[in-house]
Amino acid sequence: MNIEKLISEAEKELTPIFNEIERHAYNNSKKVLEAFHINKISESHFNSTTGYGYGDLGRDAIEKVFAYVLGSEDALVRNQFISGSHALNVTLFALLRPNDTMLAISGEPYDTLKEVIGITPNNSSLASFGIKYEQIDLVNDDFDDDKIIDAIKNKKYKLIHIQRSRGYSTRNSLTIDKVERIISKIKSIDSDVIIMVDNCYCEFVSDKEPCEIGADIMVGSLIKNLGGGIAPNGAYVAGKRGLISLVAERLTLPGEGREVGPSLGINKQFLMGLYFAPNAVASSLKIGVLASYCLEKLGFTVSPRYDEARADIVDMITFNDPEKLIKFTQGIQAGSIIDAHAAVEPTDMPGYEDKIIMASGSFTQGSSIEISCDGPIRPPYNAYLQGSLTYEYGKIALKEALSKLVEK
Ligand SMILES: *Cc1c(COP(=O)(O)O)cnc(C)c1O
Repeated sequence: MNIEKLISEAEKELTPIFNEIERHAYNNSKKVLEAFHINKISESHFNSTTGYGYGDLGRDAIEKVFAYVLGSEDALVRNQFISGSHALNVTLFALLRPNDTMLAISGEPYDTLKEVIGITPNNSSLASFGIKYEQIDLVNDDFDDDKIIDAIKNKKYKLIHIQRSRGYSTRNSLTIDKVERIISKIKSIDSDVIIMVDNCYCEFVSDKEPCEIGADIMVGSLIKNLGGGIAPNGAYVAGKRGLISLVAERLTLPGEGREVGPSLGINKQFLMGLYFAPNAVASSLKIGVLASYCLEKLGFTVSPRYDEARADIVDMITFNDPEKLIKFTQGIQAGSIIDAHAAVEPTDMPGYEDKIIMASGSFTQGSSIEISCDGPIRPPYNAYLQGSLTYEYGKIALKEALSKLVEK
């Protein structure tokens, strides 16, 4: 199979899908521009603080910009969050108290949360503080409405956890429409329960974000979509004002909350990252669609398929063969910009149970809004491909990976 030819055929076929992706990028760019204008962002906001970080005008303005873009009352956008996992951890510890129960309604949460919750025992987990956990699995990649409604009618839960992206599971990601449907059903029965959405990988994929459709609080990583490839670390938490205040007091300390936290020179990068994010997400989506199309033509099972609706920027390829997973991932690394000469191998990673192979030849360590590919070495040997700051670089890396895959 001639990979070059396959890709150019794909691009002809995919034009209408690419146009639709660009329409979303346009709408989200307008939203970002409005957010900057309304908050009168100026060069002075690039300045930052050190030490305690009192009076960090740039940081405070950035949080208003994020709140506007995400349709939430308030937001916390901080470099003191290591990444999305850390922000999810801080949010859960901020909102839950001993004897509370959290209910996960999209099945088992992302790998790094298992020790946080205590699904995998850990002496610092929520479980170790007497916080209980229950879970309802998805059915056919959608919420189990009846079971969820039954559960909340019979018991008082403090917090409901929804994870939109698939993580390292095989299920499809949850579209904003599905999330909206279940939130409105839950709220009609229990209007106090806190609905928390792990929105990693989903920002700017559609024109709506979870807080605009009823979620109380949402969390995402800045080395993914909203960092636009420019933010060097960090995460955001957005939602109701009172909840954001609790999260701020857990991230820093009770009594100081959001008033401290030096931005240490990062403000301009957060603003530029958000500026580029609609386009970076569009490039990533196009690479996902292109990969799905080509890999399916080569006989592999992909999810989502090229013409299926997408809720996130992740493309899953099932190899059913560890060697093929490794080859494909090595191909992505070889077509990346940094460390392209490194032959990536499966290794143990903190927070993950299986060995993971990870191609992330990126400017920012572990960034997955840059072209990247990873997967746990366990059956059915799925690769999770995501990102690309530009379509062209993504296409070059994909071509390299596909060529590795078909070579004898
Ligand atoms: C990536 C991811 C996280 C964790 O984000 P990091 O920034 O990698 O820590 C959490 N949940 C989901 C669904 C993710 O995809």
